[in-house]
Amino acid sequence: MTLRDVDPGGSIASRWERRRAELELVGPVRRRRHHVLVVGAGLAGASAAATLSELGYRVRCLTFHDSPRRAHSVAAQGGINAAKNYQNDGDSIERLFHDTLEGGDFRSRESNVYRLAEQSACIIDHAVAQGVPFAREYGGHLANRSFGGALVSRTFYARGQTGQQLLLGAYQALAKEAAAGGVTLLARREMLDLLVVDGRARGVIARDLVSGALEVHVADAVVLATGGYANVYFLSTNAKASNATAIWRAHRRGAAFANPCFVQFHPTCLPAAGEHQAKLTLMSESLRNDGRVWVPLRPGDDRRPDAIPEAERDYFLERQYPRYGNLVPRDLASRAAKAVCDGGRGAGPGGRGVYLDLAEATQRVGAGMLRERYGNLFDMYEHITGDDPLRVPMRLAPAAHYTMGGLWVDYDLMSTIPGLFVVGEANFSDQGANRLGASALMQGLADGYFILPYTIGDYLADARLAPVAEDGAETRAALAEVRARLETLLALQGRRTASDFHRALGRVLWDACGLERSREGLAKAIDEVAALRESFWEDVTVPGGTGELNQELERAGRVADFLEVGELMCRDALAREESCGSHFRVEHQREDGEARRDDAGFAHVAVWMPPKSRSASGASATHAIGAASSATSSTTCGRTPRCSRPWIASMKVWWHQVSPPWPSTATAGRASAEPAASWSTVARTGRCRE
Ligand SMILES: Cc1cc2nc3c(=O)[nH]c(=O)nc-3n(C[C@H](O)[C@H](O)[C@H](O)COP(=O)(O)OP(=O)(O)OC[C@H]3O[C@@H](n4cnc5c(N)ncnc54)[C@H](O)[C@@H]3O)c2cc1C
Repeated sequence: MTLRDVDPGGSIASRWERRRAELELVGPVRRRRHHVLVVGAGLAGASAAATLSELGYRVRCLTFHDSPRRAHSVAAQGGINAAKNYQNDGDSIERLFHDTLEGGDFRSRESNVYRLAEQSACIIDHAVAQGVPFAREYGGHLANRSFGGALVSRTFYARGQTGQQLLLGAYQALAKEAAAGGVTLLARREMLDLLVVDGRARGVIARDLVSGALEVHVADAVVLATGGYANVYFLSTNAKASNATAIWRAHRRGAAFANPCFVQFHPTCLPAAGEHQAKLTLMSESLRNDGRVWVPLRPGDDRRPDAIPEAERDYFLERQYPRYGNLVPRDLASRAAKAVCDGGRGAGPGGRGVYLDLAEATQRVGAGMLRERYGNLFDMYEHITGDDPLRVPMRLAPAAHYTMGGLWVDYDLMSTIPGLFVVGEANFSDQGANRLGASALMQGLADGYFILPYTIGDYLADARLAPVAEDGAETRAALAEVRARLETLLALQGRRTASDFHRALGRVLWDACGLERSREGLAKAIDEVAALRESFWEDVTVPGGTGELNQELERAGRVADFLEVGELMCRDALAREESCGSHFRVEHQREDGEARRDDAGFAHVAVWMPPKSRSASGASATHAIGAASSATSSTTCGRTPRCSRPWIASMKVWWHQVSPPWPSTATAGRASAEPAASWSTVARTGRCRE
């Protein structure tokens, strides 16, 4: 199996243009004959499905939500980046490219990032044309604010509802196409497996979540737009239903998984209040435009914030990172917050938070202006905590938020399974080891509106696709596996709920594979997760049956997958012997506590393969093609703390071969179906484009 390299190379600024020029086209009449299945109808999926239909493809779009408008994208608050330079403050495509690379601690794929920066401006134009009500200046120009990791204001926003407004734009495009007959929209369908025929993705097995019926959806190409997996931690800022099942099942069918341990912890969330909490709430990073972050100078100081005089406060972000101040990238802000809390200076009950104080901004611009900018965030905060943020500093803490890891894709956004494309948060491609704020919406919409619609044509133009029978051998086998797994879950009749296992998994991961990771902690966590998984397949209880609405059954299936994803995350974190971006290994830090990257050894994407992709001889595959770049230099840029080192922007792809001890779904579903020891076969076997 080979990782396809379709990056055209050469000057980075002209790569996408050149790639587009060489892509094969599908004529309008042939497009009408091609069926494309899009799984997911958040920003990435809805934009992709609508655009493909506008081009003339016949699209079927599945979502487990009851409407695309309920996708997790609706929660995005703060904004979307674009290199428009409306503020005339020095922004450019080049600068957005550099900020994103630097924000990702030089672990992103440069070609994709450059293309993303180029496309950013088109997204805003497109959304404005759709009627998305971005905030405007008094004179009518679109307004901007700043986000972490940037010294310019390039974030477009619609109060604190940017995701919702953008999703309404994408949804109306999708609804228009559905009404015109180009898109068949199927809500309340959960993809439970990928259908691979003759080595190509040819559809999915889905469950109708209302009737419980299993369905086969056949297509010429499949697009996964199923979001991120931060809910693996149980407590996260993600919508409660967000999960990893679609990408994990595709992984088990042979799609490579890249950088699973790169998870972003957002610094401005409400601290966890207790054991029975089901999710965490985000307060948008945009608040760091006006809020100053501080903790008491003295450990154990439990006075109310207004009783702590100015001289006894530590504005630690402004002190540690004077250039960016409160707008440092999220990984740095989160880790700094953890450090002060660990040092006994955390704010509020339990010492788990830091203050975000709007007093200075209130004096500077007035409460009315702040309400205009952040009104709904203030309402949400007050609703939950009972405090008015304009009177009492907000108390915030880091929480699991976004997954930079995901299915590996090439420059065309195709996974290692031909015909399987992955867009939005579900892929790994653009954000490196840490995503900058307001860049996820940008990526999802660039993928869906402007990249995939071109690249999928190149695949369809060339592919010789025989018709797939819905009752063919591969389909029947995949259906039987899905059915057996559901029945196994129902038959176990154990003593613990799926949520109970999920909560336990979250604790293990938060402690060992969270803001800080250590060799010892990760090794222990791998054993703990494996034990938890084994216990799950013996002791989980799922009431009800398969042929009906059964949310416990849905949950159990998702938790079973999280129990496998969690272990892979720990394996990946253990293998990456460096600190970079969100991945902080205590063994790899400088004297001042900052992350120590190892560019010589680890400037690569860690690509994990499931055992099925082993060669027939059982030997590890040995080829790996870099999504490499020639945009390298060895100058010192010195712009952020992590930039005081040589700029090494090149990237190498390593091939890891793993044999996870996941349950065999065709049989009883026991974790012991494969020995845990086989995990240790992780091998670095290939390297190219060094
Ligand atoms: C609270 C919060 C605030 C955020 N704010 C910002 C922000 O201001 N700016 C920014 O850039 N980013 C922000 N982000 C990140 C951003 O919202 C997400 O990365 C982005 O919306 C993901 O979009 P998506 O289309 O890839 O996935 P999603 O919006 O998660 O959509 C996933 C879709 O896939 C479907 N699906 C999933 N699995 C299956 C399955 N097995 N079968 C069928 N359907 C399935 C779901 O039903 C859904 O339709 C925020 C994130 C959070 C949590």
